[in-house]
Amino acid sequence: MPSHHHRPESEVALRVKAIESLLVEKGIVDLAALDAIIDTYEHKVGPHIGAQIVAKAWVDPEFKKRLLADGTGAISELGFTGFSSEHMVVVENTPEVHNLIVCTLCSCYPWAILGLPPTWYKSFAYRSRAVIEPRKVLQEFGLEIPEQVEVRVWDSNADLRYLVLPERPDGAEGWSEEDLATLVTRNAMIGAAKVQPPAAADSLVA
Ligand code: FE
Repeated sequence: MPSHHHRPESEVALRVKAIESLLVEKGIVDLAALDAIIDTYEHKVGPHIGAQIVAKAWVDPEFKKRLLADGTGAISELGFTGFSSEHMVVVENTPEVHNLIVCTLCSCYPWAILGLPPTWYKSFAYRSRAVIEPRKVLQEFGLEIPEQVEVRVWDSNADLRYLVLPERPDGAEGWSEEDLATLVTRNAMIGAAKVQPPAAADSLVA
């Protein structure tokens, strides 16, 4: 728990603390193991993993084919196997289709490759509105989807997690996989953003 909070802790935070100390006291949970899990999701697992997968798909058409056909299998080829029982389905953004990921029921999210979900993803407003008025929600993210582009919304659950394969931006031709990965944002892999072309200044340097 961070100690820099000046506001009193929320009821949920207090309950979590109470449950945590109870589990530790009863010997059910080892605090060190718990810290290791939290550390993993805060620092080791994160959108940089998803970004590597996307960049690989951009430069390797055969990998992309496998990724779209069998997300779990193709992702595990890269050594990312942190899935418990859920299947990964990768959906591709194209000039004709824009995909958006949501979990209407709770907050199912591809933790193993994107890390912790953003707060807005878990909000009731996003969970309900993403399916009812996805274009309006995307507008609020600053993403104007043209009328002729179909918007597909994918509802995640405990068994099925989605990852958006964003479109490769112009202006990064000839870039290495590693450099391309730096362009890919978490929101782009949820479908709440597009991958932006590299800034003009950057492309001069590259
Ligand atoms: Fe959920």
